[in-house]
Amino acid sequence: MRISSFTLLMAWSTLLNLKIHFRFLEIFMLTRLFLVNTATDIMNPFKRLAPLWKILFLSSIFYCSILCSSGYAQNKLPDGFIRLSEIIPDVHVDLRYYSKDNFLGRPVEGYLSPVCILSLPAAKALSKVQLDLKKEGLKLKIFDAYRPQRAVDDFVQWAKSLNDTTMKKTYYPKVSKALLFEQGYIASRSGHTRGSTVDLTLIDSTGKNLDMGTPWDFFSPKSWPSSQAVPEQAQRNRAFLRQVMQRHGFIPFEAEWWHFTLEYEPFPNTYFDFPIQ
Ligand SMILES: [Zn+2]
Repeated sequence: MRISSFTLLMAWSTLLNLKIHFRFLEIFMLTRLFLVNTATDIMNPFKRLAPLWKILFLSSIFYCSILCSSGYAQNKLPDGFIRLSEIIPDVHVDLRYYSKDNFLGRPVEGYLSPVCILSLPAAKALSKVQLDLKKEGLKLKIFDAYRPQRAVDDFVQWAKSLNDTTMKKTYYPKVSKALLFEQGYIASRSGHTRGSTVDLTLIDSTGKNLDMGTPWDFFSPKSWPSSQAVPEQAQRNRAFLRQVMQRHGFIPFEAEWWHFTLEYEPFPNTYFDFPIQ
C-alpha cells in the first residue's frame, strides 16, 4: 500500500508542474521523517490515521502555507505604491507594453501582468479625475503607468537594432528608426519609472475611444497637444483631457497628448525597477 501510493505520488509530480511539485515531494519526505520520529508520542492526534494520509495531510498544509507566503511576497508592491484597480475598481486598463500592440511589436521586459501600478498620491488624484469624468458620461482608459527601468532599457536595446521595424507603419511611419533617440521619442530614463506618470485617454459610455487625432504612442508632431494638424473635435477632446487632469494636480507633456505627471510626485528622484505583476 505504502509503495504503490508513493509511486502514484511520484507519477502525479511528473505529470504536473515539476518545479512546484518537486518542492511538495521535498516537504512530503521531511514530514514523513518527522512523523516517524514522533510516532511514539501517545498524545499525537494523527497516530490513528494511516501513515501515508497523515503525511499527506500535514505536508499539504506546509506546502500551501509556503505557496501562499511566497505568492504574497512576489506580489507585494514597494511602500507607497498601489494597483489602480484597488482605488478605481471600474478603471479600464489596456496595458499596451504587456501586449504586442506597441511600437516594439512584442511584450516589453518587466510587464508580467496587465495591471496598472501607480504611486498612492497619483492613484488617488486619478480617482478624482474619474469621478469628474463620470458626470460627463466619460471614463479613463489607461495605456501605461509605472514602468520598470528594465522596460526602458528594453526600449533602448530595441532602438539599437535598426532592422527590426515591425511596427513602423503604425507607430512611427514618418520617422527613421535611427533618429528615434535623437528626436527624443526614446530616452534612457522615463518619468514613468518614478511611478507618478500615466498615459491615458478618454472613453465614452460604450467604451469607445474619444477622437484624439492620433493613436497613443504615435511618434509625430501631430501628437503634440498643441498640434492644429488634427481635426478640431480632436483638439477639443485633447484640451478637455488636459483641463480635467490639471484640475487634479497633473502636469501635461508638450509632446504627447496622452502623457501626464503628478506635480507633487512622492518619488521625484527615484527610478524603480520592480516588475509589474
Ligand atoms: Zn508616457
